[in-house]
Amino acid sequence: MEKAKKMKLSDYEIFQTLGTGSFGRVKLAKKKNTTQYVALKVLKKAEIIRLKQVDHIINENTILSNLNHPFIVKMDGFCQDSRYLYLVLEFVSGGELFTYLRSVGRLETNHACFYAAQVTLMFEYLHTKNIIYRDLKPENLLIADDGYLKLTDFGFAKVVEGRTYTLCGTPEYLAPEILLNKGHGKAVDWWTLGILIYEMNAGIDPFTDEDPMAIYQKILKGKVKFPRNFDKNAKSLVKHLLVADLSKRYGNLKNGANDIKNHRWFSSIDWAQLLSKKLPVPYKPVVKAPNDTSNFSSYPESDTHSPALKPADDPFLDW
Ligand code: AMP
Repeated sequence: MEKAKKMKLSDYEIFQTLGTGSFGRVKLAKKKNTTQYVALKVLKKAEIIRLKQVDHIINENTILSNLNHPFIVKMDGFCQDSRYLYLVLEFVSGGELFTYLRSVGRLETNHACFYAAQVTLMFEYLHTKNIIYRDLKPENLLIADDGYLKLTDFGFAKVVEGRTYTLCGTPEYLAPEILLNKGHGKAVDWWTLGILIYEMNAGIDPFTDEDPMAIYQKILKGKVKFPRNFDKNAKSLVKHLLVADLSKRYGNLKNGANDIKNHRWFSSIDWAQLLSKKLPVPYKPVVKAPNDTSNFSSYPESDTHSPALKPADDPFLDW
Protein backbone atom coordinates (compact mmCIF):
# COMPACT_ATOMS: atom_id res chain seq x y z
CA MET A 1 0.00 0.00 0.00
CA GLU A 2 1.13 3.53 -0.71
CA LYS A 3 1.88 5.93 2.12
CA ALA A 4 -0.57 8.70 2.91
CA LYS A 5 0.22 12.03 1.24
CA LYS A 6 1.89 14.76 3.32
CA MET A 7 0.03 18.07 3.41
CA LYS A 8 0.82 21.49 4.93
CA LEU A 9 -1.09 22.43 8.06
CA SER A 10 -0.64 26.15 7.31
CA ASP A 11 -2.78 25.62 4.20
CA TYR A 12 -5.85 25.15 6.38
CA GLU A 13 -8.01 27.48 8.42
CA ILE A 14 -9.47 25.55 11.37
CA PHE A 15 -12.99 26.01 12.79
CA GLN A 16 -15.26 24.26 15.29
CA THR A 17 -15.35 20.68 16.56
CA LEU A 18 -17.63 18.23 14.73
CA GLY A 19 -17.09 15.21 16.93
CA THR A 20 -14.75 13.59 19.41
CA GLY A 21 -12.91 10.30 19.34
CA SER A 22 -10.49 8.44 21.61
CA PHE A 23 -7.36 10.41 20.70
CA GLY A 24 -8.71 13.84 20.01
CA ARG A 25 -11.35 15.53 17.96
CA VAL A 26 -12.54 16.10 14.44
CA LYS A 27 -12.77 19.74 13.35
CA LEU A 28 -14.18 21.57 10.39
CA ALA A 29 -11.47 23.29 8.33
CA LYS A 30 -11.16 25.09 5.02
CA LYS A 31 -8.34 24.99 2.55
CA LYS A 32 -7.12 28.59 2.34
CA ASN A 33 -7.85 30.45 -0.91
CA THR A 34 -10.38 27.82 -1.91
CA THR A 35 -13.99 27.05 -1.05
CA GLN A 36 -13.11 23.48 -0.11
CA TYR A 37 -14.14 22.42 3.39
CA VAL A 38 -12.57 19.36 4.99
CA ALA A 39 -12.81 17.51 8.28
CA LEU A 40 -9.50 17.52 10.16
CA LYS A 41 -9.12 14.59 12.50
CA VAL A 42 -6.75 15.93 15.16
CA LEU A 43 -4.98 13.21 17.14
CA LYS A 44 -2.83 13.75 20.22
CA LYS A 45 0.54 12.12 19.66
CA ALA A 46 1.31 11.75 23.38
CA GLU A 47 -2.03 10.00 23.94
CA ILE A 48 -1.48 7.63 21.02
CA ILE A 49 1.90 6.66 22.47
CA ARG A 50 0.54 6.29 26.01
CA LEU A 51 -2.15 3.92 24.79
CA LYS A 52 0.33 2.04 22.57
CA GLN A 53 -1.70 2.73 19.46
CA VAL A 54 1.07 4.00 17.16
CA ASP A 55 0.75 1.03 14.80
CA HIS A 56 -3.05 1.22 14.78
CA ILE A 57 -2.95 4.88 13.80
CA ILE A 58 -0.39 4.37 11.06
CA ASN A 59 -2.57 1.48 9.87
CA GLU A 60 -5.66 3.67 9.85
CA ASN A 61 -4.01 6.29 7.71
CA THR A 62 -2.34 3.98 5.29
CA ILE A 63 -5.52 1.98 4.82
CA LEU A 64 -7.80 4.98 4.46
CA SER A 65 -5.57 6.79 1.98
CA ASN A 66 -5.56 3.70 -0.23
CA LEU A 67 -9.34 3.32 -0.42
CA ASN A 68 -11.62 4.63 -3.11
CA HIS A 69 -15.29 3.83 -2.71
CA PRO A 70 -18.45 5.97 -2.94
CA PHE A 71 -19.54 4.93 0.58
CA ILE A 72 -16.21 5.43 2.33
CA VAL A 73 -14.88 8.78 3.48
CA LYS A 74 -12.00 10.02 1.32
CA MET A 75 -8.71 10.97 2.89
CA ASP A 76 -6.62 13.62 1.10
CA GLY A 77 -3.53 13.20 3.25
CA PHE A 78 -2.15 14.17 6.64
CA CYS A 79 -0.11 16.86 8.40
CA GLN A 80 1.66 16.91 11.73
CA ASP A 81 3.41 19.09 14.27
CA SER A 82 5.17 18.19 17.50
CA ARG A 83 1.87 17.67 19.37
CA TYR A 84 -0.70 16.41 16.91
CA LEU A 85 -1.39 14.40 13.77
CA TYR A 86 -4.02 15.86 11.46
CA LEU A 87 -5.83 13.64 9.00
CA VAL A 88 -7.40 15.58 6.15
CA LEU A 89 -10.75 13.98 5.39
CA GLU A 90 -13.62 14.83 3.12
CA PHE A 91 -16.22 16.76 5.20
CA VAL A 92 -19.47 14.79 5.35
CA SER A 93 -22.07 17.36 6.31
CA GLY A 94 -25.24 15.42 7.19
CA GLY A 95 -24.12 14.21 10.62
CA GLU A 96 -23.99 10.72 12.07
CA LEU A 97 -26.54 7.99 11.31
CA PHE A 98 -26.55 7.66 15.12
CA THR A 99 -28.00 11.17 15.58
CA TYR A 100 -30.63 10.60 12.91
CA LEU A 101 -31.58 7.18 14.30
CA ARG A 102 -31.95 8.54 17.85
CA SER A 103 -34.02 11.48 16.63
CA VAL A 104 -36.55 9.22 14.90
CA GLY A 105 -36.34 6.28 17.33
CA ARG A 106 -36.32 3.53 14.76
CA LEU A 107 -36.32 3.36 10.98
CA GLU A 108 -38.97 2.06 8.64
CA THR A 109 -37.68 -1.26 7.44
CA ASN A 110 -37.22 -0.14 3.81
CA HIS A 111 -35.14 2.81 5.06
CA ALA A 112 -33.04 0.52 7.24
CA CYS A 113 -32.69 -1.70 4.18
CA PHE A 114 -31.31 1.21 2.10
CA TYR A 115 -28.60 1.90 4.71
CA ALA A 116 -27.79 -1.75 5.41
CA ALA A 117 -27.36 -2.39 1.68
CA GLN A 118 -24.70 0.31 1.53
CA VAL A 119 -22.89 -1.20 4.50
CA THR A 120 -22.97 -4.56 2.69
CA LEU A 121 -21.23 -2.97 -0.30
CA MET A 122 -18.68 -1.23 1.95
CA PHE A 123 -17.72 -4.52 3.58
CA GLU A 124 -17.73 -6.42 0.30
CA TYR A 125 -15.25 -3.85 -1.06
CA LEU A 126 -13.04 -3.81 2.06
CA HIS A 127 -12.94 -7.60 2.30
CA THR A 128 -11.81 -7.97 -1.32
CA LYS A 129 -8.85 -5.84 -0.22
CA ASN A 130 -8.38 -8.12 2.82
CA ILE A 131 -9.32 -5.30 5.17
CA ILE A 132 -11.56 -5.98 8.13
CA TYR A 133 -13.23 -2.91 9.57
CA ARG A 134 -14.13 -4.11 13.08
CA ASP A 135 -15.89 -1.00 14.40
CA LEU A 136 -19.29 -0.76 12.74
CA LYS A 137 -21.79 1.34 14.70
CA PRO A 138 -24.19 4.15 13.78
CA GLU A 139 -21.70 6.75 15.08
CA ASN A 140 -19.24 5.79 12.36
CA LEU A 141 -21.72 6.02 9.50
CA LEU A 142 -22.02 9.60 8.32
CA ILE A 143 -24.82 10.84 6.09
CA ALA A 144 -23.66 12.91 3.13
CA ASP A 145 -25.66 15.84 1.77
CA ASP A 146 -27.04 13.53 -0.95
CA GLY A 147 -28.51 11.17 1.68
CA TYR A 148 -26.02 8.34 1.05
CA LEU A 149 -23.72 6.98 3.75
CA LYS A 150 -19.97 7.35 4.23
CA LEU A 151 -18.05 5.08 6.55
CA THR A 152 -15.50 6.86 8.75
CA ASP A 153 -13.04 5.95 11.54
CA PHE A 154 -10.60 3.30 10.37
CA GLY A 155 -8.84 3.22 13.75
CA PHE A 156 -9.51 -0.50 14.19
CA ALA A 157 -9.32 -1.52 10.55
CA LYS A 158 -6.67 -4.04 9.70
CA VAL A 159 -5.25 -5.81 6.68
CA VAL A 160 -5.61 -9.47 7.51
CA GLU A 161 -5.26 -12.69 5.62
CA GLY A 162 -6.76 -15.23 7.96
CA ARG A 163 -7.09 -14.43 11.62
CA THR A 164 -6.10 -11.76 14.11
CA TYR A 165 -6.40 -11.52 17.88
CA THR A 166 -6.76 -7.93 19.11
CA LEU A 167 -9.77 -7.17 21.29
CA CYS A 168 -11.41 -4.12 19.80
CA GLY A 169 -14.80 -2.68 18.94
CA THR A 170 -17.78 -1.39 20.87
CA PRO A 171 -19.31 -3.70 23.54
CA GLU A 172 -22.80 -4.00 21.98
CA TYR A 173 -21.29 -4.81 18.58
CA LEU A 174 -18.62 -7.37 19.58
CA ALA A 175 -18.82 -10.75 17.89
CA PRO A 176 -18.63 -13.88 20.08
CA GLU A 177 -15.36 -15.01 18.49
CA ILE A 178 -13.75 -11.71 19.58
CA LEU A 179 -14.98 -12.20 23.16
CA LEU A 180 -13.68 -15.76 23.19
CA ASN A 181 -10.33 -14.56 21.85
CA LYS A 182 -10.18 -17.47 19.44
CA GLY A 183 -8.87 -15.33 16.62
CA HIS A 184 -11.21 -13.54 14.29
CA GLY A 185 -11.47 -12.55 10.64
CA LYS A 186 -13.78 -10.89 8.13
CA ALA A 187 -16.84 -12.63 9.59
CA VAL A 188 -16.83 -10.17 12.54
CA ASP A 189 -17.94 -7.41 10.16
CA TRP A 190 -20.97 -9.45 9.07
CA TRP A 191 -21.89 -10.01 12.72
CA THR A 192 -21.83 -6.23 13.28
CA LEU A 193 -24.05 -5.78 10.20
CA GLY A 194 -26.58 -8.03 11.95
CA ILE A 195 -26.43 -5.83 15.04
CA LEU A 196 -26.87 -2.68 12.96
CA ILE A 197 -29.87 -4.09 11.06
CA TYR A 198 -31.47 -5.05 14.36
CA GLU A 199 -30.74 -1.64 15.91
CA MET A 200 -32.10 0.33 12.94
CA ASN A 201 -35.32 -1.70 12.88
CA ALA A 202 -35.90 -1.94 16.62
CA GLY A 203 -34.34 1.32 17.85
CA ILE A 204 -32.38 -0.62 20.49
CA ASP A 205 -29.46 -3.05 20.43
CA PRO A 206 -30.16 -6.80 20.55
CA PHE A 207 -27.66 -7.34 23.38
CA THR A 208 -27.81 -4.46 25.79
CA ASP A 209 -27.15 -3.68 29.44
CA GLU A 210 -25.58 -0.92 31.53
CA ASP A 211 -22.78 -3.29 32.47
CA PRO A 212 -20.48 -4.37 29.62
CA MET A 213 -19.91 -7.76 31.31
CA ALA A 214 -23.66 -8.45 31.16
CA ILE A 215 -23.63 -7.47 27.47
CA TYR A 216 -20.84 -9.97 26.83
CA GLN A 217 -22.77 -12.72 28.61
CA LYS A 218 -25.82 -12.03 26.46
CA ILE A 219 -23.73 -12.09 23.28
CA LEU A 220 -22.20 -15.43 24.26
CA LYS A 221 -25.58 -16.87 25.16
CA GLY A 222 -26.67 -15.80 21.69
CA LYS A 223 -30.37 -15.50 22.35
CA VAL A 224 -31.91 -12.67 20.30
CA LYS A 225 -35.39 -11.44 21.13
CA PHE A 226 -37.27 -9.57 18.42
CA PRO A 227 -40.03 -7.04 19.09
CA ARG A 228 -43.38 -8.21 17.74
CA ASN A 229 -43.55 -5.60 14.98
CA PHE A 230 -40.03 -6.39 13.66
CA ASP A 231 -40.13 -6.97 9.90
CA LYS A 232 -40.06 -10.71 9.23
CA ASN A 233 -37.61 -10.56 6.32
CA ALA A 234 -35.26 -8.34 8.31
CA LYS A 235 -35.55 -10.82 11.17
CA SER A 236 -34.64 -13.69 8.89
CA LEU A 237 -31.48 -11.91 7.69
CA VAL A 238 -30.47 -10.89 11.23
CA LYS A 239 -30.82 -14.54 12.27
CA HIS A 240 -28.42 -15.54 9.50
CA LEU A 241 -25.90 -12.89 10.60
CA LEU A 242 -25.99 -13.16 14.41
CA VAL A 243 -24.79 -16.75 14.28
CA ALA A 244 -21.90 -17.74 16.55
CA ASP A 245 -21.00 -20.71 14.32
CA LEU A 246 -18.72 -19.19 11.67
CA SER A 247 -19.43 -22.04 9.27
CA LYS A 248 -23.08 -20.93 9.20
CA ARG A 249 -22.85 -17.13 9.37
CA TYR A 250 -23.98 -15.35 6.18
CA GLY A 251 -21.17 -13.42 4.53
CA ASN A 252 -18.70 -16.07 5.67
CA LEU A 253 -19.94 -18.93 3.49
CA LYS A 254 -18.66 -19.93 0.05
CA ASN A 255 -20.80 -17.33 -1.75
CA GLY A 256 -19.48 -14.53 0.46
CA ALA A 257 -21.50 -11.31 0.45
CA ASN A 258 -23.84 -12.71 -2.21
CA ASP A 259 -25.83 -14.71 0.34
CA ILE A 260 -26.62 -11.40 2.02
CA LYS A 261 -27.24 -9.45 -1.19
CA ASN A 262 -29.60 -12.15 -2.46
CA HIS A 263 -31.58 -12.36 0.79
CA ARG A 264 -35.24 -11.44 0.37
CA TRP A 265 -35.04 -8.43 2.72
CA PHE A 266 -32.86 -6.87 0.00
CA SER A 267 -35.11 -7.95 -2.89
CA SER A 268 -36.01 -4.31 -3.68
CA ILE A 269 -32.36 -3.23 -3.97
CA ASP A 270 -30.82 -2.83 -7.40
CA TRP A 271 -27.18 -3.17 -6.36
CA ALA A 272 -25.67 -1.48 -9.41
CA GLN A 273 -28.06 1.48 -9.08
CA LEU A 274 -27.29 1.74 -5.39
CA LEU A 275 -23.55 1.83 -6.03
CA SER A 276 -23.98 4.61 -8.58
CA LYS A 277 -26.25 6.46 -6.13
CA LYS A 278 -29.24 6.40 -8.43
CA LEU A 279 -31.77 5.09 -5.90
CA PRO A 280 -34.04 7.58 -4.13
CA VAL A 281 -32.94 8.30 -0.56
CA PRO A 282 -35.20 8.01 2.51
CA TYR A 283 -33.84 11.12 4.19
CA LYS A 284 -31.86 14.05 2.89
CA PRO A 285 -30.17 16.10 5.59
CA VAL A 286 -30.71 19.85 5.56
CA VAL A 287 -27.37 21.42 4.64
CA LYS A 288 -27.63 25.16 4.08
CA ALA A 289 -24.03 25.94 3.12
CA PRO A 290 -20.76 24.08 2.57
CA ASN A 291 -19.75 24.95 6.15
CA ASP A 292 -23.10 24.18 7.79
CA THR A 293 -22.42 22.12 10.93
CA SER A 294 -25.97 22.16 12.32
CA ASN A 295 -26.27 18.39 11.82
CA PHE A 296 -23.52 17.83 14.38
CA SER A 297 -23.71 18.24 18.16
CA SER A 298 -21.90 21.19 19.78
CA TYR A 299 -18.75 20.54 21.75
CA PRO A 300 -16.93 22.89 24.14
CA GLU A 301 -13.77 24.08 22.40
CA SER A 302 -11.66 24.29 25.55
CA ASP A 303 -9.34 21.34 25.31
CA THR A 304 -6.17 20.76 27.26
CA HIS A 305 -3.10 21.03 25.10
CA SER A 306 -1.26 17.86 24.37
CA PRO A 307 2.44 18.10 25.26
CA ALA A 308 4.94 18.64 22.47
CA LEU A 309 7.19 15.66 21.74
CA LYS A 310 10.94 15.97 21.30
CA PRO A 311 11.91 14.80 17.80
CA ALA A 312 13.79 11.83 19.29
CA ASP A 313 10.60 10.66 21.04
CA ASP A 314 8.31 11.16 18.08
CA PRO A 315 7.50 7.88 16.29
CA PHE A 316 5.58 9.71 13.55
CA LEU A 317 8.33 12.05 12.35
CA ASP A 318 9.76 9.88 9.60
CA TRP A 319 6.38 8.62 8.51
P1 AMP B 1 -13.82 9.37 14.73
O1 AMP B 1 -12.84 9.62 15.82
O2 AMP B 1 -13.19 9.16 13.38
O3 AMP B 1 -14.82 8.29 15.08
O4 AMP B 1 -14.68 10.70 14.59
C1 AMP B 1 -15.42 11.20 15.68
C2 AMP B 1 -16.64 11.95 15.17
O5 AMP B 1 -16.24 13.06 14.37
C3 AMP B 1 -17.57 11.14 14.26
O6 AMP B 1 -18.45 10.33 14.98
C4 AMP B 1 -18.27 12.27 13.51
O7 AMP B 1 -19.26 12.88 14.29
C5 AMP B 1 -17.17 13.27 13.30
N1 AMP B 1 -16.49 13.02 12.00
C6 AMP B 1 -15.52 12.12 11.76
N2 AMP B 1 -15.13 12.16 10.47
C7 AMP B 1 -15.88 13.10 9.88
C8 AMP B 1 -15.97 13.62 8.52
N3 AMP B 1 -15.19 13.16 7.56
N4 AMP B 1 -16.89 14.59 8.27
C9 AMP B 1 -17.67 15.05 9.27
N5 AMP B 1 -17.63 14.62 10.55
C10 AMP B 1 -16.76 13.67 10.85
